[in-house]
Amino acid sequence: MRYLVLSDVHANLEALTAVLDASATQWDQVLVLGDLVGYGPDPNAVIERVRALPITAAVRGNHDKVASGLAPVDSFNHVARQAVEWTSGQLTRENLHWLAALPHGPVPVDAHTEICHGAPWDEDAYLFDERDVERERLSLSRPLCLFGHTHVPSIFRIETTVEAMLPVRGERCRVPLDNGSFLVNCGAVGQPRDGDPRAAFGLLDTEARALTIVRTPYDVGGTQAKILNAGLPAVLAQRLPLGR
Ligand code: ZN
Repeated sequence: MRYLVLSDVHANLEALTAVLDASATQWDQVLVLGDLVGYGPDPNAVIERVRALPITAAVRGNHDKVASGLAPVDSFNHVARQAVEWTSGQLTRENLHWLAALPHGPVPVDAHTEICHGAPWDEDAYLFDERDVERERLSLSRPLCLFGHTHVPSIFRIETTVEAMLPVRGERCRVPLDNGSFLVNCGAVGQPRDGDPRAAFGLLDTEARALTIVRTPYDVGGTQAKILNAGLPAVLAQRLPLGR
């Protein structure tokens, strides 16, 4: 099966559209790793676009939880809080219910693959480096776990030790899925934070055991204008061209 891997779209419709255009014909099914909303100006349009895709597995992100009223806003910083409160006010009833019904991870995709938002042992944990993975790596139940949440494309190879195969750079980066288990973040569609402003996504071919992290440009200026028009914090527009 060929999968499109979407994570951290964050209500950025221009980025999502660019990813769907750039990846067309290269996948059959979709994996959704959470944070469809929050920060960006198009929560309903993004949810509706994603709902219409052939989804094999999906999990919720921390912004989805707060926006749909499942978790308190206390853990968010000032900017994230303003954005999520704005988002909650925008969501249609139907989209809010759909968002609230997303399961927490990990969710199995097949015998070899699972997905989660933060980490398989804690949906809200951030995996930035080897130490974050080392602590809990025994909880991996599949040889490949795809995660999101940090907005930074990363590859952790787990054998007797944990090796961070960093940095992930370039327009297409093939992940060498050889021996061992892998925790892979294919990056964020809607708010990349690795210094590359292009939207990031993954293409996984389970038969060929091939995973590629891909970058594609999108209309950043269009998203910025919508963020400002919506009255969302200006910093959310300013960070997009910087990829931070
Ligand atoms: Zn996120």
